[in-house]
Amino acid sequence: PMSLSDPVKPHRICVCVRKRPLNKKELAKKEIDVVTIPGNGALLLHEPKQKVDLTKYLENQTFHFDYSFDEDATNDLVYRFTAKPLVKTVFEGGMATCFAYGQTGSGKTHTMGGDFSGKSQNSSKGIYALAAQDVFTLLMQKRYADMDLCPYVTFFEIYNGKVFDLLNKKAKLRVLEDEKQQVNVVGLQEVPVSSVDDVIKMIERGSACRTSGQTFANASSSRSHAVLQVILRRRNFLHGKFSLVDLAGNERGTDVSNNDRHTIVETAEINRSLLALKECIRSLGQNSEHIPFRMSKLTQVLRDSFIGENSRTCMIAMISPGMSSCEYTLNTLRYANRSF
Ligand code: ADP
Ligand code: MG
Repeated sequence: PMSLSDPVKPHRICVCVRKRPLNKKELAKKEIDVVTIPGNGALLLHEPKQKVDLTKYLENQTFHFDYSFDEDATNDLVYRFTAKPLVKTVFEGGMATCFAYGQTGSGKTHTMGGDFSGKSQNSSKGIYALAAQDVFTLLMQKRYADMDLCPYVTFFEIYNGKVFDLLNKKAKLRVLEDEKQQVNVVGLQEVPVSSVDDVIKMIERGSACRTSGQTFANASSSRSHAVLQVILRRRNFLHGKFSLVDLAGNERGTDVSNNDRHTIVETAEINRSLLALKECIRSLGQNSEHIPFRMSKLTQVLRDSFIGENSRTCMIAMISPGMSSCEYTLNTLRYANRSF
């Protein structure tokens, strides 16, 4: 067993881990839960009463997180400790970014998008909708109402290093950088919104666009990054921006020889962008002058998020509880380990 030290109090960066419950399929297969979250940024990976030896993975490993959430944590709770504080940043004229990271099936979309499929009254809202709610609550407050802030939404996908507009029939967009290093996604639809319902409509429209018209719909959506942005403009000038990113699954093509060329290229691109992201977040955390945002399309498009005085980032690393996901889980923990 491994326990973690006290969480490092975050300033510009917050890194959390969230464990999901075992699902029906896993329970049916008598999958064993090997993850315990005792609280306080700690996480225990333990060996079940079984022949599998985890110690080879766990030697000399300590992982640090600002918060850790167990399977009983609701989206509401996770939101309160992660994205909620960032809404304020955006109103104060900052750039905020919240990433959901983890293997496919670990709960990224559940956490970010919530359940839009059921349309039931008690379907759990995700961070997208909860953040939108807070944005409109703050817009009504006097101190901000007087500022004349106008909210807009963009929603796009980055797949294989290419940008597609989810609010405009998946139009493929070019990314240009001007001489001032300003990055511009040419033609990206920025839709004005005047209520939470408006935002939710856009999320539904974009989510449907994300998974439709493809043979391997879900497989392909798990291999792209989805970026929802809530943008505040003041007399047309950019005031603040909140980017909410549902990242591509971080699983690697384990047996490369078994994968076709297309999959190998896809996987290489995902690995490149996730590595670039880690480098950029690390640089941000160290207040470094040099942010290597050109390392990937993902980080290039999110350049604003990594520069400037008032940039805040939160990463939520999702993990599956099962024994069979153990290696992926360890990969995720290593990636998200708050060593910066
Ligand atoms: P990902 O987007 O990382 O591939 P999903 O969010 O689609 O994973 O989650 C996979 C499945 O697990 C979905 O059916 C989802 O509803 C469920 N799930 C994920 N996280 C939780 C959670 N914290 N509580 C309950 N169910 C969850
Ligand atoms: Mg998903």
